[in-house]
Amino acid sequence: MTSLTITFPPPPADAFDDLRAEVRDFLSSTLAARKPRDRARSWAGFDADFSRQMGARGWIGMTWPKAYGGHERGALERYVVLEEMLAAGAPVAAHWIADRQSGPLLLKCGTEEQKNAILPRIAAGECFFCIGMSEPDSGSDLAAVRTRATQVDGGFRVNGTKLWTTYGHKSHYMILFCRTGAADDRHGGTSQLLVDLSLPGITVRPIADLSGEHHFNEVVFEDVFLPASAVIGGLGDGWNQVMGELAFERSGPERFLSSFTLLVEAVRALGPNPDPAARAAIGRLTGHIVTLRRLSRSVAGLLQKGENPALHAALVKDQGALLEQEIPEVVRAIVAVEPSLRSSGDLSAVLAHIVLAAPCFSLRGGTREILRGIIARGLGLR
Ligand SMILES: Cc1cc2nc3c(=O)[nH]c(=O)nc-3n(C[C@H](O)[C@H](O)[C@H](O)COP(=O)(O)OP(=O)(O)OC[C@H]3O[C@@H](n4cnc5c(N)ncnc54)[C@H](O)[C@@H]3O)c2cc1C
Repeated sequence: MTSLTITFPPPPADAFDDLRAEVRDFLSSTLAARKPRDRARSWAGFDADFSRQMGARGWIGMTWPKAYGGHERGALERYVVLEEMLAAGAPVAAHWIADRQSGPLLLKCGTEEQKNAILPRIAAGECFFCIGMSEPDSGSDLAAVRTRATQVDGGFRVNGTKLWTTYGHKSHYMILFCRTGAADDRHGGTSQLLVDLSLPGITVRPIADLSGEHHFNEVVFEDVFLPASAVIGGLGDGWNQVMGELAFERSGPERFLSSFTLLVEAVRALGPNPDPAARAAIGRLTGHIVTLRRLSRSVAGLLQKGENPALHAALVKDQGALLEQEIPEVVRAIVAVEPSLRSSGDLSAVLAHIVLAAPCFSLRGGTREILRGIIARGLGLR
């Protein structure tokens, strides 16, 4: 069995203090009127105006080259911005996927034409992306995708259905993971294509989540024509690219800060003198957050050094989801509060939202069983 080394030392506690203060300043004025129940939506809160303001501040595409609208800052500076946004419950969803994974994928594998056309618009907070990986009967088993792009004169004709496409109804583009080769070539027969969602033949249908909200969609492709220039990277390289993309998706502070607003509201409700059991419970959760933060920052460090953090990222996602799902349970045990979406009380409404959202934390970005398989393989256990 190999061990997992956390190679990246945490930066000094005061690193990037100026940036942190600048972000806090911006958030305290911009989000002053935002209620805890809205903050609890965390990185699922969509607000295109807010994203444009983030773009104007230079906080999207922070690490990308200036030539593509980026700001050439470090992964840890970006980490500071993300952490402050999530801790404050900022509505970052509009640009989140584009900044986190679609932009970096285009930067790494895209053509000059794709990079020039798209990256500056993402960095400005004006171009939003969704992820077209999951399908009916192929979520965990991504290599079983059936959506097919058939080569025709000048490009491709796409047919198939994507499922659980978060904010597909508000995005400009999808990165489509699909089959371009033989059906039995599970990995080598897949590719990623850049899809303009306004093209004819694409239907986006809403799917309500447990709390009745509309984030998810089913996206149906019927004879959609894509030009040959839509291919990202090489034809047949889809599997390796999608695995690299998932490392970006699994490692960030969003993977342990989704329930953070609930913790803040619980501490507020407990007041300055909580009983010893409540103190111990809050202390334990804080200990877990500090550990996950260290792991997540080490992934940022590995990304900065150009290394592959897939194993670390799977660990952050798995352990982060456990913590995020435990927080509502702990809060219910230490504070006398009934969850209710309609309550006028902040804690009650935030708790109700998180209780309804928490079951999906261990599904989105890859289910727990699959992540544990990846971790076991990485440690040489299977
Ligand atoms: C909030 C949220 C947002 C999402 N957003 C997107 C998005 O924007 N784009 C997108 O493409 N997808 C998205 N997804 C889909 C998500 O990534 C999939 O739900 C997930 O990968 C699981 O796929 P599935 O739902 O098809 O479940 P299945 O693959 O059918 O799995 C069902 C259960 O069986 C288990 N299982 C399956 N295979 C195995 C195995 N080999 N070994 C052990 N256990 C196994 C799974 O772990 C799971 O518990 C989102 C999901 C959620 C909850």
